[in-house]
Amino acid sequence: MTTSIAIERVETSKITAVDFDNLPFGSVYSDHMLTCDFVNGKWQAPKIEPFAPISLAPSAKIFHYGQSIFEGMKAYKDADNNIMLFRPLDNCKRLNKSAQRLVIPEIPEEIFMDGLKALLEVDSDWIPTNDGSSLYIRPFMFASGNGFHASPADAYKFIICTAPSGAYFGGKVKVLIEEKYARAANGGVGYAKAGGNYAAQFYPTQLAIEKGFNQVIWTDDNTHQFIEEAGAMNIFVRINDTLITSPTSDRILDGITRKSILQIAEDNGIETEVRKISVGEVVEAAKNGSLKEMFGAGTAAVISPIAGFGHKEDEFELPVLEKPYATILKKMITDIQTNKAEDPYGWRVFV
Ligand SMILES: *Cc1c(COP(=O)(O)O)cnc(C)c1O
Repeated sequence: MTTSIAIERVETSKITAVDFDNLPFGSVYSDHMLTCDFVNGKWQAPKIEPFAPISLAPSAKIFHYGQSIFEGMKAYKDADNNIMLFRPLDNCKRLNKSAQRLVIPEIPEEIFMDGLKALLEVDSDWIPTNDGSSLYIRPFMFASGNGFHASPADAYKFIICTAPSGAYFGGKVKVLIEEKYARAANGGVGYAKAGGNYAAQFYPTQLAIEKGFNQVIWTDDNTHQFIEEAGAMNIFVRINDTLITSPTSDRILDGITRKSILQIAEDNGIETEVRKISVGEVVEAAKNGSLKEMFGAGTAAVISPIAGFGHKEDEFELPVLEKPYATILKKMITDIQTNKAEDPYGWRVFV
């Protein structure tokens, strides 16, 4: 480890109050957090300190101009107490790609990686070992500098918090193909994990929920004729035995789960296609029975199977399969993540 990190430990751990057999997702927080400030034109030394509220002036630019980005990743612990991350450098690189787009200074890779590993060592008891559980990790950066002038701030904060978490979604997910609103536009920030992207999703999602759906399938902003993402996840569609996903672009987030699933599927003899998927094609496939599966892919849920979808006034149910790709691929990827299977790709990183 090259980065020197001061550690201030909690006086009393909160861990005894946590029921590890009934963990929610992302709402119980571990004892510590990593913080690092960008001031006077450079990143200062990172610190580990007790998880606690932070103080900001009301004039902090994050509140006014939304310079805020984040990442989502997970840590796992195997039966021998090894701590593992999954492709963590990809998260660091993507955070910096988001940073560039929002004019936030990039975080040095050593601060991100060394800081994260040190935090996991300090809070290693917080990493759940139950099946399906993991330590959800939330790195984020935002403008802490002040001013009502609409320009980039002169100070930023990088924080990593963690939350021991159970499985993300439960039950059948019904989605609505969006025809009016858009998540992202050409030339916009859809490819970045920018906080504002999610704020903008809430309203159309709320309308879909009022109509009896759980999530929105985002379509392209221009024609609404091509499906792009499922909520805050990448989307996969299986027509006959071919697994299809949309190509990444300005508007589509380059998901680590998405690209891992594509690789695993290809290496296990599943035919894959990366191409635009039209709404008409999906509706037609649902009608003629060739639409076998749809699922979302992302770190939180890994794979979230879709049970049915709405399009205009029509609703379509997906068949219940004996061995869906969703189940097979989810097992393969989580077995690699949790050290239950060989990792021919070098994706697993031990802490
Ligand atoms: C985070 C995210 C994903 C999934 O990315 P992963 O790296 O697989 O977690 C997909 N779409 C959107 C919009 C996201 O924010």
